[in-house]
Amino acid sequence: MKKVAVLGSTGSIGTQTLDVIRNNEDLQLVALSAGSNIELLEKQIREFHPEICCVSSKSNADALRIAIADVTPSCKIVSGMEGLLEVAVVESSDILITAIVGMIGIKPTIAAIEAGKDIGLANKETLVTAGHIIMPLAREKGVSILPVDSEHSAIFQCLNGEKENVIHKILLTASGGPFRGMKKKDLEQVTLDMALKHPNWSMGKKITIDSSTMVNKGLEVIEAKWLFNVNPGQIEVLVQPQSIIHSMVEFEDGAVIAQLGSPDMRLPIQYALYYPKRVFLDGERLDFSKITELTFEKPDMDTFVGLKYAYDAIDIGGSMPTVLNAANELAVAKFLNKKIRFLEIYEIINFCMDCHTVIENPSVDQILETERWVYETIESRWIS
Ligand code: NDP
Repeated sequence: MKKVAVLGSTGSIGTQTLDVIRNNEDLQLVALSAGSNIELLEKQIREFHPEICCVSSKSNADALRIAIADVTPSCKIVSGMEGLLEVAVVESSDILITAIVGMIGIKPTIAAIEAGKDIGLANKETLVTAGHIIMPLAREKGVSILPVDSEHSAIFQCLNGEKENVIHKILLTASGGPFRGMKKKDLEQVTLDMALKHPNWSMGKKITIDSSTMVNKGLEVIEAKWLFNVNPGQIEVLVQPQSIIHSMVEFEDGAVIAQLGSPDMRLPIQYALYYPKRVFLDGERLDFSKITELTFEKPDMDTFVGLKYAYDAIDIGGSMPTVLNAANELAVAKFLNKKIRFLEIYEIINFCMDCHTVIENPSVDQILETERWVYETIESRWIS
């Protein structure tokens, strides 16, 4: 029996993780966390009977305690960062799935690694900002960082049995998002509803907007650098609009290995939970006789400058990826609240990166201090 803890159980990745657990008798959910979706958490606790559950605030914790008062065995309810850390290191778990969104995932991920838990990593913001801390720590503690992001899971699968071989290049595929083919003047007109319509994947709101700006692909380039220990120059983003090829690896001899499949996040989630074993997944299968086109394009980094900013951030290094990530997190939150226009997301990121004095090799406290500096800079000096 593999015992699983999940951060962000009510979200897109979280609910699909619970679906995988629901369908496999040898997986057991022992701990979970979410922000404020008490109604769904109550259902999840009644179905899975975890030992502990964390919510974002004390008032949410009180509401959840009342809602599950009759559930036996009882589930301990905790809240805030302290509660997230408790869930991350719960003694009974073997693996933590980090399906929480944003930099709030950094501390619990580090705590889980220190406690010797394997990590199924969906929360890419953690690696983008603290990859230089997390990857060496994981090696030191002998824990596996198993990618859940579909592209990174694809690369991870392509690298099976290739430990001794040198990666020449990673071909990180992208759908291109809902605005593929548009130019800057077209992007001036796009609305929130348009940005929330991803052509191939159904995901949480933040990553859906990140996909529409292609900042998501930029974050994934940085994530790939840390996961696979390659230089950014070895990571080529390739638009593959049908989202059938989830990514590829080119080796020194010119051979290219790809991983293909239907767009279904349960596959990389399940792969991380069972690695290195593959088990049956009741999902849509690729029918090659029905695939009429499989096309590739170079990304348009002049229009979708967020991708370019990510390459710049990783070249500069230190605290700059944190600035990119934090500026994007707040800008996307403002765009979701209809406070700024679509293109202002890029302008805010650019503004913050321009004003920042880089800290080399930042500690966790310095990363979180940089996040605060970014938020303050945007709130006090950005005039929208
Ligand atoms: P969602 O927005 O759907 O879910 C986020 C989860 O985090 C929810 O359970 C939410 O709880 C919880 N959460 C949010 N804020 C807080 C907080 N302050 N304290 C505690 N919990 C909080 O996101 P996704 O599932 O789409 O994405 C999760 C992560 O996975 C992101 O890092 C994303 O980039 C990555 N990812 C997602 C993919 C996808 O297909 N969705 C694909 C690849 C990577 P509540 O609902 O109660 O607010």
